Amino acid sequence: MSIQATVEGRSLPAFRNEPYTDFSVASHRAAMEDALRNVRGQFGREYDLLIGGQPVKTAEKLISRNPSRPSETVGVHQMATPAEAARAVESAAAFFPEWSRTPAEERSRMLLRTGELIRQRKLEFNAWLVQEAGKTWPEAEADVSEAIDFCDYYAREMLRLAGPHPMLHLPGERDELVYLPLGVGVVIAPWNFPLAILLGMTTATLVTGNTAVIKPSSDTPTIAAKFAEVLLEAGFPPPSFSLVTGSGSKVGDALVQHLKTRFVCFTGSRDVGLRINELAARPQAGQLWIKRVIAEMGGKDAIIVDSEADLNLAVTGVLASAYGYQGQKCSACSRAIVDRALYDDFLERLRAKVEALKVGPAEDPDNYMGPVINEKALKTINEYIEIGEKEGRLVTGRSHVSGEGYFVRPVIFADVEPRARLFQEEVFGPVLAVTPARDFNHALELANDTEYGLTGAVYTKNPRKIAEARNRFFVGNLYFNRKCTGAMVGAHPFGGFNMSGTDSKAGGPDYLLQFMQAKSIAEKLP
Ligand code: NAP
Repeated sequence: MSIQATVEGRSLPAFRNEPYTDFSVASHRAAMEDALRNVRGQFGREYDLLIGGQPVKTAEKLISRNPSRPSETVGVHQMATPAEAARAVESAAAFFPEWSRTPAEERSRMLLRTGELIRQRKLEFNAWLVQEAGKTWPEAEADVSEAIDFCDYYAREMLRLAGPHPMLHLPGERDELVYLPLGVGVVIAPWNFPLAILLGMTTATLVTGNTAVIKPSSDTPTIAAKFAEVLLEAGFPPPSFSLVTGSGSKVGDALVQHLKTRFVCFTGSRDVGLRINELAARPQAGQLWIKRVIAEMGGKDAIIVDSEADLNLAVTGVLASAYGYQGQKCSACSRAIVDRALYDDFLERLRAKVEALKVGPAEDPDNYMGPVINEKALKTINEYIEIGEKEGRLVTGRSHVSGEGYFVRPVIFADVEPRARLFQEEVFGPVLAVTPARDFNHALELANDTEYGLTGAVYTKNPRKIAEARNRFFVGNLYFNRKCTGAMVGAHPFGGFNMSGTDSKAGGPDYLLQFMQAKSIAEKLP
């Protein structure tokens, strides 16, 4: 559906996804290398908290490191305490009445400008993602492109929602429905899409007329600081948002529990999401509303490879879904459920491809995989590999990668039983569990045998099986004969079932509604 929208009387072209930069073109490669050098030249700079537009320093600092070379400091940031968190909420609450009255068209214009500024600085943002999040060039490019898409899409969506809505008019009455912003939104973001997810949640908060308190991940605060610069340049008033860097476990509760917090928009792990949901549900003395929680959480995503699959296509799709960004996507394939008829062949072809993957610093475009995000993640992933050695058959992986970065070679475990921890728990690293299925029905049962329900894919040429999976595969994002990662704004609204979250469907037509409340107005005509 094309969205008809106008800004300042001019109609906007229909939304389209931001095209990816082709790094096989020599000039693009050279420009990206320049951007990496420029960003490296800014390593070690100090960034302040922004509270109601004021820069604030704290005594304790938060150091962000390059996961490909942890001895390198990417940025020095402030470590907020609950006192700064509370000030940020107070300041957002004080500015809310003014911001909520800013016309939707003006807010959308600022958001379109945000997208345009990021487009102009795309390679620079790519370079920050390479250096601070360990994304390879194409993964960084996809993240930044998605961020631009969110700006372009939500700007149009806000104009649609601010427009008139078709209502039944009772005889002698004028009947209307209007959408109002909620209040102060606390945005708590993960590191794995340090620009796209942070930006998506923040801009949805702001464009709908709410004020925002942004708490980025402690692993990627520099990208958040750069994003804040863009918001200001795009015209968002300084008091419309605050940027609060610091440890989630120290400032998180203060932000979520604050009396004046109206809603929390969170993306991250299951356990933190559940804690936020629980704390937000308890009203504080004097609180006037039920806090809303929009939470997108973990996944244990499966790809089914049916006996009637195109095996080459399936192997390629599993490879990209399991090991792209080192398996650190909530949508990553961590379980391959393969029909017995193809099982050995599948494993052999996948093993050969996996063993050919290059792992090393994200800066080097020859590497298919960069580092995992930090030392803690490296330790957790290695613990799961040890668990996997007891629970399954190691097909490949486990060899050492030289260099000081947090590198893990891609791992495949075969014959993993459904009750195994490796089949049930989110690893968030390049570790794939492969399990045989007796038939298609069994494969669907195995795929659904999880508390999560985020993404899934099925490789089969049989239309009857596609119809069956459409009904029975219980995930928020289902794909056929393609990988289970790489959701595109506008085409694949994103969000999961069960313990994967509240199914908020980022990048889709329902998303912004969660940041607003609807008011019905009926006027008796004379
Ligand atoms: P995380 O550990 O849950 O952290 C997410 C955010 O929550 C960070 O900003 C973190 O701050 C903050 N936080 C930590 N403890 C908190 C508390 N008690 N109260 C409030 N905030 C707190 O997750 P992550 O490691 O960054 O991200 C990986 C997880 O995100 C995976 O489970 C992945 O599946 C999930 N994810 C889901 C989606 C989706 O759309 N469903 C998308 C991306 C990622 P600090 O960094 O300071 O600890």
